[in-house]
Order: sequence, then structure tokens, then C-alpha cells
Amino acid sequence: MEKAHGHIFITEHLYKEYRHTAALRDVNITIPHGQIYGLIGENGAGKTTLLRILCGLTRPTRGRLLLFGAADTAGQAEMRRRMGCLVDGPALYTDLTARQNLKVQCLQRGLDEAAIAPTLQLVGLNDTGSKPAGKFSLGMRQRLGLAVALLGRPEFLVLDEPLNGLDPMGIQELRRLLEKLNKEKGMTILLSSHILSELHQLATSYGILHKGRLLEQLTAEELDARCSKYLLVRTDNDRRAADILRKMFPAALCQATAEGLRFSPVENEAAAAASGALMHTGLHVQELAVRSEGLEAYFTALVGGDTHADAS
Ligand code: ATP
Repeated sequence: MEKAHGHIFITEHLYKEYRHTAALRDVNITIPHGQIYGLIGENGAGKTTLLRILCGLTRPTRGRLLLFGAADTAGQAEMRRRMGCLVDGPALYTDLTARQNLKVQCLQRGLDEAAIAPTLQLVGLNDTGSKPAGKFSLGMRQRLGLAVALLGRPEFLVLDEPLNGLDPMGIQELRRLLEKLNKEKGMTILLSSHILSELHQLATSYGILHKGRLLEQLTAEELDARCSKYLLVRTDNDRRAADILRKMFPAALCQATAEGLRFSPVENEAAAAASGALMHTGLHVQELAVRSEGLEAYFTALVGGDTHADAS
């Protein structure tokens, strides 16, 4: 079984092929314990497919997965009792109230009904009284779906596009709730979105999925380092310039790109400092500027400017 601070979910060379579509291609994902993991990808990237496999709603075509350390199907089915999933939308009875919906869930899943009241309280639906779920706003339905997922007091919560369709207030509320569950209850959370900036400041790790492939996994710190301000330098001898500037900006990541050398993150004053240092070296400085790269720009650069799905 998994170590206390081990990995909750791992896939190895995971493929899912439909008749005309490769939905997942060689996906190797690792979700460590205690993270809020943001799975980012455009529509059709394969997010829902991956989450459906994780939740046992469909099987991979090839490849291996480990769930709380379990590699076999029976062991994984057992481990899924430790998970709460909201994928494919919540299965709600529209003519039943929030409380009645949760009661049905308890009966179906053999859960203790004592969990109903605190769960409704947690998601802020404790005063919806006799209102049937069919009359709920989208935000309320999302919260009731979340309550269904939370009812079994899961250690691992999996949510497909939970922020989709929520207004800014609803997004703030849900973010606060997820942070609380993560910090106070130590819950590991995996949530997907097609908008990277939506999960920024919430997720602690990210996986970028594009056309069925996991292009990159990175921590929030790594993402910040790549997305914040960077210094762009182009000279007639970038190798020498790199040697000089690495000493000046030891904490920055130095990358040689087609545009020139990039040091990130840096402060606004970096350009003045760098120009001072390069001035007396005899190098011919062709470009020297501090630029800012937004999250979406980072994402676009990563997927090569192609943010649309392609089923081929
Ligand atoms: P979205 O946000 O639009 O749901 P997604 O990233 O969740 O996007 P998936 O729903 O996983 O993407 O779909 C990945 C690809 O697999 C798409 O090309 C989709 O058309 C295809 N696909 C998904 N489910 C099926 C299915 N049951 N049969 C055939 N093709 C499917």
C-alpha cells in the first residue's frame, strides 16, 4: 500500500482509443498526496477521459494505473471507496431536495446518514429547505454535486470542470471551500479546467494535457517562475552573456530560446542592472528588455500556438 506521503494516482503509458479517436496517448501522470492538482487542456484534450478512467467509469485501452498503490482491478475498486468523484455531472433527482438527494446517495452507497447535515453545511446548502434540486441555480447544483462527492468523507476528490459556468462569486466560494478541504482535512484534490488562469493561485501542481498527451507536469512555483517577468537578452555572444548574467541572477532560470537568452523570474530593475554589467564587456547587445509572460501565453507557447482540439 501507499506510503503516508506517497503518490495517490499514477499512470504508466496510458492509452485510450475510440474507434476514430486516440483520446489519450502515452499518458504518464503522477499525483502526489496532499496536492491540489490542476489538469489543464483545451476542449477535447482528453481530461474527462482520464478522469473517467481514474473513477472506474471506463477502462484504458493499454497501460497501467496505480491507485493508492493498488495495480489490480479488484484492489482499485476497493480504493475507490476512498475517493469522491464528480465527473459527467452529478446524478441528481430533480424533484428531490438537497437533503433527500443525499439520503438516496447514503442508501445506495451504504453510507452513514449522520454525514448529511455536516456535508450540506460544508457546501452551504443547509438552508435550501423544501426546494427541489430541479429549481437550483447552476452554482447550487454544482455544490450539491460536490456534496454527493464529499458524502463518503473521501481522501481524494476528483472534479471535472467544477468551475465551469459559475459566476465570479461562485468561483471564489468554491476555491475557498477546496482550499479548506485541502488544508484542514488534508484532502488531495484533482480538478480539471480548460482555462489555466482559472486554477492559478489554487492548484499546487499542474498537468498540461494537449491532444491526448501530457505535455508537462509542474509545480505552482515552477509555473510562477515561467510565467512571471523575464529578462530577454540577445547579443553577438550569448554564451559569454549567459556566464555574466547567471552570476548576477543566480536564482533565475536561464534558457536559450530562438528569441535570445531568457532569465526568469526577474524584477523590473533587471534590465538596467544587466545593461550596466554588459556595457563594459565589449559584447554587442542587440536586445535587452524585461517582459512579462501571462499564463495563457505560456500555455499557448507550450502547445505551439495550437489551442484547438484535433481528433486525428
Ligand atoms: P471537454 O472539456 O470538451 O470534455 P476533454 O478534455 O474532457 O474535453 P474528452 O471528453 O476526454 O476531452 O475527449 C477526448 C477525445 O475523445 C475527444 O476527441 C472526444 O471526441 C473523444 N471521445 C470522448 N469520449 C468518447 C466516446 N465515448 N466515444 C468516442 N470518442 C470519444
